[in-house]
Amino acid sequence: MSEPVLELVNVVKAYGEVSVLHGIDLRVDAGELVAVVGPSGSGKSTLLHIMGTLERPTSGVVRINGVDAARLGDRQVADVRARDIGFVFQQFFLAAHATARENVADGMLYAGVPARVRRQRAAEALERVGLSHRAHFKPAKLSGGERQRVAIARALVGRPAIVLADEPTGNLDSATGAGVVELLHELNDSGATIIVITHDNDLAAELPRQIRVLDGRIVREDQHATPVH
Ligand code: ADP
Ligand code: MG
Repeated sequence: MSEPVLELVNVVKAYGEVSVLHGIDLRVDAGELVAVVGPSGSGKSTLLHIMGTLERPTSGVVRINGVDAARLGDRQVADVRARDIGFVFQQFFLAAHATARENVADGMLYAGVPARVRRQRAAEALERVGLSHRAHFKPAKLSGGERQRVAIARALVGRPAIVLADEPTGNLDSATGAGVVELLHELNDSGATIIVITHDNDLAAELPRQIRVLDGRIVREDQHATPVH
């Protein structure tokens, strides 16, 4: 059996007296497209931060490609994050002064990839998300859907083991959001492992696997026998 790309074992997260996650067990294998779905305040973003090593759990184990993040120092965790994890957020978080291609190239600032190679790979990633014709535009000149496509290209350009997307359609109208979901399907079809965090049941239902979170616990899991896509 293949090693999971991401594994959480009995993950607990508390902020002082406030307990947010109460023992999360989760395994995601290479090539999966997973929805983590639940209402606002159920702990989804906290879970994403922990899956992405942006925060450490209060207790429990987080393994990325079989490596227990708790055994790594902050510097090593940052290296794992830069190499193995791509992030997509509701608010896009693009640099306003930089072009689409420069924003995507920034997804590879680690590991000493030469600037010329970064530019080339950024151009290829923009092509994958259908935005070659916008490569030299700054975010202010792009629509919301285009901005999110740039952010997705940035998340994917370093070929991470896993892409974590937190409410990726949350700032988009429904037609534009549907286009972004379609893109995530296409990228998954070509091999990317993607976890989408969402409060949107309809969006979650379109993905092959759903993990339902409520009050900091996984309360249900569903997997389509065959992809609906
Ligand atoms: P979701 O993304 O599902 O809306 P969050 O993970 O953002 O949920 O938040 C879950 C709960 O954890 C909320 O009640 C929130 O107030 C609390 N929470 C999140 N981050 C912190 C923090 N840094 N300190 C204290 N409470 C927090
Ligand atoms: Mg959230």
